[in-house]
Amino acid sequence: MNLLHWPVRMHVASLSVSKFCFLFSLAFCGFLLLLIPALQPSARKVDLPLPRPQVRPSLASLSHHAVVPGGFLHAGNTDPITGLSRSSAGQERLNLTGMMMTVPRGVTDSRRGPRGVKTTRKYHKSRLALLIETWVSQAKEQTYIFSDGEDKELRLRTGANIINTNCSAAHTRQALCCKMSVEYDKFIESQKKWFCHVDDDNYVILPSMLRLLSSYHHSQDVYLGRPSLDHPIEAAERVKSDGSMSVKFWFATGGAGFCISRGLALKMSPWASLGNFISTAEKIRLPDDCTIGYIIEALLEVTLTHTHLFHSHLENLQKLPTDTVLKQVTLSYGGFENRRNVVSIFGGFSLLEDPTRFKTVHCLLYPDTEWCPKLNPWHRN
Ligand code: UDP
Ligand code: MN
Repeated sequence: MNLLHWPVRMHVASLSVSKFCFLFSLAFCGFLLLLIPALQPSARKVDLPLPRPQVRPSLASLSHHAVVPGGFLHAGNTDPITGLSRSSAGQERLNLTGMMMTVPRGVTDSRRGPRGVKTTRKYHKSRLALLIETWVSQAKEQTYIFSDGEDKELRLRTGANIINTNCSAAHTRQALCCKMSVEYDKFIESQKKWFCHVDDDNYVILPSMLRLLSSYHHSQDVYLGRPSLDHPIEAAERVKSDGSMSVKFWFATGGAGFCISRGLALKMSPWASLGNFISTAEKIRLPDDCTIGYIIEALLEVTLTHTHLFHSHLENLQKLPTDTVLKQVTLSYGGFENRRNVVSIFGGFSLLEDPTRFKTVHCLLYPDTEWCPKLNPWHRN
């Protein structure tokens, strides 16, 4: 019996040892598994993009005196102002800009912008002086004015960045493309994140522009603006082929202003940098703003993001509801000779004193400005 049982007992004993070993190794493996996250190199953790809390500053935090009731805070996934849907990535990015947007007066992040203003010598005293007095004064460092003549007096008096492009002062396609070409090169040379172009009859509502741009990242392909047509323009394709084919594309009208991210602007380089912009425009025989649209939509196959926040005097500006005027990104004016085409907004200046309405808009946004009428709450009557 003993003899018989001995090997059996031996077997049982060896079985329990291997079972113990098996269980032990299982437990050890489990322990190792638990340790894996802790053993990860700490640098990788730092690299992971952290979701940024959504900090949406109200207009009150941008300028000392907000006049937009309720400020800019809105819930939901669709931006009530732009009508654009916000991606979650876009929302994450807001904090970065939020930091910058809490600057109380003006904009001090030198990497944002620059804004390029196209002008001509004959408008320095009329159109340009008004801009320098109003919105440009809030973003002097980021705004570059591209003209066709020297104006040392204006530059010294106002401290504005006025660049003499040496382009012709004519209102021809070549002259306007020459200015756009200099504007583009100047942007590339700068280390700024966004290239926004406006005309000298545009008012830029800086808090709205910052808010709009903060929903995107400058490294994405972003082309923002307002088309002046309700259909894409058609042109003979003379860049990629011999012109026997036609190409359809959208473009943002320059008279309402447009913005291009740095990432996209860099991709435009083969057709836009160092004089190439002028030859591209010559090939398709279209004006500067159409050429921008052609390079982006037709050559790079990036689509224009249509926004109704940019305005030119080609539209009826009176139709803009008064309570939304300060939420727009750009405004314009026109039609003095026949019918006045200006935004309807009420404030410290009459139509006679402020025919463009830009001073009124400016004083509503920045009431502390020295030349703005002071409304004393104790002497309202
Ligand atoms: N402009 C220019 N050279 C000219 C005439 C106009 O650079 O000879 C600029 C002007 O300063 C403005 C833009 O071109 O920034 C558009 O001009 P305007 O508003 O007179 O015409 P629009 O095309 O808007 O009717
Ligand atoms: Mn105009």
